[in-house]
Amino acid sequence: MATLTFNYGCMNSAKSTNLIQTRHNLGVVNNKKVIVLKPSIDTKSEKVVSRIGVEAPVDINVTRDLDVFAAVQNAGALDAVLVEEAQFLTSEQAMQLLKIATLLDITVIAYGLRVDAFANAFEGASQLMAIAHKINEFETFCECGCVATMNARYANGGWQKSGNQVAIDDGSVKYLALCSKCYDKYVGL
Ligand SMILES: [Zn+2]
Repeated sequence: MATLTFNYGCMNSAKSTNLIQTRHNLGVVNNKKVIVLKPSIDTKSEKVVSRIGVEAPVDINVTRDLDVFAAVQNAGALDAVLVEEAQFLTSEQAMQLLKIATLLDITVIAYGLRVDAFANAFEGASQLMAIAHKINEFETFCECGCVATMNARYANGGWQKSGNQVAIDDGSVKYLALCSKCYDKYVGL
């Protein structure tokens, strides 16, 4: 049986870079049929773009009400499905990823944040944490040198203590991965 993997990490933990590398390894090096899914809630780009300058096309834009299982089933014979920004999936869509691996025997690798800028779980990430066959942490470091586990949002000249869960870093908003101690110092636990 194929497996569902959830690779989680803070901002700047190389999740997108790994997705693009995995797509290359499977699709180009090993000649596997791979598609990339991305929630359309992320308006940054219709591509997967890594901060180090590589990118990959998105094959299916996932709207809030899309049946991901049906969409993948209708996409033809596939070996793997890669999911960018999986934290923005609904919990129902996270379950559909498990069905893709289990019932369609297609490998699913999802990448996403675990926690939002206000220390709340993202719906999609929370469900993936609960049901994925494999869960891997992509570590990145806080400015103090500790492993970062929190994501802080900086906008309008200050650290944000509340706001919308989704605010894409289009230039007006910045995110910083912090350890919980530094998060407490800047934002407050
Ligand atoms: Zn720190």
